[in-house]
Amino acid sequence: MATPDTSPLPAACDVLVVGAGPAGSACAQTLAAAGHQVLLVDQHDFPRDKICGDGLIPDSHAALRRLGVHDEVMAQARHVQHVRCIAPRGGVVDVPGTLAVLPRKQLDHILVRAAQRAGATLATPVRFEAPLLDGERVVGARLKTAHGVHEVGARWVVLATGAVPAAAIAAGVNERRTPSGIALRGYVKNDAMVGRITQLQMLWHPRLSGGYGWIFPAPDGVFNIGAGLTGSHGKGRDGRHAMQDVNLRQMFDAFCDLHAPARELMQGGTIVGELKGAPLRCSLLGAKWSRPGLLVTGEAAGSTYAFTGEGIGKAMETGMLAAQAVLHGGDEPGVRAQYEASLLALKPKFDLYEKASHVNHRPWLADLVVWRARKSPRILRRMSGVLEETQNPGRLFSWRGITKLMFE
Ligand SMILES: Cc1cc2nc3c(=O)[nH]c(=O)nc-3n(C[C@H](O)[C@H](O)[C@H](O)COP(=O)(O)OP(=O)(O)OC[C@H]3O[C@@H](n4cnc5c(N)ncnc54)[C@H](O)[C@@H]3O)c2cc1C
Repeated sequence: MATPDTSPLPAACDVLVVGAGPAGSACAQTLAAAGHQVLLVDQHDFPRDKICGDGLIPDSHAALRRLGVHDEVMAQARHVQHVRCIAPRGGVVDVPGTLAVLPRKQLDHILVRAAQRAGATLATPVRFEAPLLDGERVVGARLKTAHGVHEVGARWVVLATGAVPAAAIAAGVNERRTPSGIALRGYVKNDAMVGRITQLQMLWHPRLSGGYGWIFPAPDGVFNIGAGLTGSHGKGRDGRHAMQDVNLRQMFDAFCDLHAPARELMQGGTIVGELKGAPLRCSLLGAKWSRPGLLVTGEAAGSTYAFTGEGIGKAMETGMLAAQAVLHGGDEPGVRAQYEASLLALKPKFDLYEKASHVNHRPWLADLVVWRARKSPRILRRMSGVLEETQNPGRLFSWRGITKLMFE
């Protein structure tokens, strides 16, 4: 059951971290472990659900190791060894990788507890309403609790409020209201399919154009199944998929119609809870990364990959980068400069994932890639290298890379 953390809010702290998702908890843990007085607030009590595919790709594993919670996560997660890519004409390739699935209700609770163990104070349900300003500088925040409105002073405020832009708008850092993607997911319990769906399955198809459908096997006979549209900044490259025109429920039904395992999963299983949709913010776009006294991190800063919609790992990574900047950046301009430089260093990779979302808009490219990967162990190794982040995605995701695929 979700429990409020009702400790009274302090009048001031070193760092106020708003949002206790992967980005906020990773940031709070890193700062608290270094001796900073950290107040971590979230509008929801924990454990709380977050609409997500729950897939942990290799960058998540690396971040969880850095945070010292990898063993705890893996003790609860379903271990997975492959991403199964399924192309429109039925071609299939299994790309090996360090993978797992754990519902966000459990994952985020582990992360928030790790931040508390490191010394961060968690306060929930507490909603960020607006920054406190001294001229242009953010010097704290106005927070709403069940008991009223409180003002908390802070040397730094870190905004880790995810893809919904309300908090970023209030903080004066939002640059775009429309998300870069939207997706719908549900949980289905179906014990009979446990031995049959053992990979992260992703299907591209013209009927899902602009995105893809997925089935990710979670623990205890439960599967995360969904469909969504990513990396389009509100509009498909061909202009056909304005975000508001997409009916996610129809896309989800098309996925179940097209993909036999999805159909069987739904027909023989029990839906747990409701099918729910949520926005994504990708490619490090959509918000300023900082303003005096405030850093924006995780999906609030667009830290989700456009092509795949994966963002848990990069949320934790950017949260830790924000913490490192506060710890080592020196004076205020130094902190902002270090943080922005560290995000800028990640930007080329995000841009390549943005380019790779050609596949979502031109699903025939998935036929080509899958066909070539089935024939060439070298190409399959490259795909696995991109997933593991040991290879430059440019060799696969650029037009040049795709053209080369045809002749290698
Ligand atoms: C349908 C779907 C499927 C996805 N599948 C995957 C997947 O399989 N793998 C993957 O890696 N990524 C996936 N993603 C992306 C992933 O969910 C995000 O990248 C990730 O959650 C970003 O983490 P975050 O900490 O930045 O934000 P969040 O996880 O969104 O956390 C933000 C927190 O801020 C809190 N908050 C917001 N506003 C306020 C406020 N005003 N005051 C106080 N608190 C506030 C929220 O309650 C929340 O707890 C998916 C996303 C969607 C929508």
